[in-house]
Amino acid sequence: MTGTWHDVGRPEDVPAVQDTDTVAAISRSPAIHTEELTRCFGDLVAVDAVSIDVHAGEIFGLLGPNGAGKSTMIKMLTTLLPPTAGSAQVAGFDIVRDPTSVRRRIGYVPQALSADGALSGYENLLVSSRLYGLTRSEREERIREALELVGLADVADQLVREYSGGMIRRLEIAQAMLHRPAVLFMDEPTVGLDPVARRVVWGHVRHLRDLWGTTILITTHYMDEADDLADRVAVMHQGHVAAVGTPAELKVAVGGEATLDDVFVHFTGASIETGGSYRDVLRTRRTARRLS
Ligand code: ADP
Ligand code: MG
Repeated sequence: MTGTWHDVGRPEDVPAVQDTDTVAAISRSPAIHTEELTRCFGDLVAVDAVSIDVHAGEIFGLLGPNGAGKSTMIKMLTTLLPPTAGSAQVAGFDIVRDPTSVRRRIGYVPQALSADGALSGYENLLVSSRLYGLTRSEREERIREALELVGLADVADQLVREYSGGMIRRLEIAQAMLHRPAVLFMDEPTVGLDPVARRVVWGHVRHLRDLWGTTILITTHYMDEADDLADRVAVMHQGHVAAVGTPAELKVAVGGEATLDDVFVHFTGASIETGGSYRDVLRTRRTARRLS
């Protein structure tokens, strides 16, 4: 496969024409489109009729506390979990009707660490390159390029169990990018990292997008990093999307000197830290003041 990044991401049924209207139409169609996407576990509605559009080349942050439904959204969009109701298209393909086409165009960094600690960074990338069906001649160059991109070229031959958490996350990003997916899903890639390592990871995410035009959907419960680094965010709470917009738009909507934390409280009536009700949080704070 010698195509460009965009060729890889283009649906096969779209003709490779130079007609500018057609090209414009393709680039206008969203990279991710969901309509009332829903997933239940027994009585629990983990994702409740979520309709969102993520534009091509966008870094889109899905924000919410533990249990909001972020991972369930990502598992449906990566075809790992069938929806209970609703529909979604990723890179132009339906997740239920055409999961194979979706899988060929996406990368996925799961919430749980997925790199193999008993292998070196290079060996982990070699495993991924085989998994994604890269030819022998492509592998060497793609792996070298990926290692450079995430700043791990110097430690490529070290065992991953000797890596820091931030280095492992960077390796996993490299693994997920080897086949140059049109859409990259990252589930809490910065959880558990210190603030410096979190910034480095986000720096690589942006770099990938700028380099290749990759669409990136990233979940986090760190409001500050989403504020700085996501183009747009969706505020998710108990399976619902309560608000969507650029961080700046959402803060203006709330008014004053609002932070994204305030935005979250405003649209959900809950605290991002716990997902509990705002009243609970106020009560806790009052208690804490009384005790101090
Ligand atoms: P988040 O990633 O935002 O923390 P999840 O999508 O993991 O949230 O979970 C959303 C809700 O669905 C939670 O209440 C969680 O307990 C529940 N849930 C997730 N996966 C399963 C499952 N496989 N079986 C039953 N309940 C689940
Ligand atoms: Mg999760």
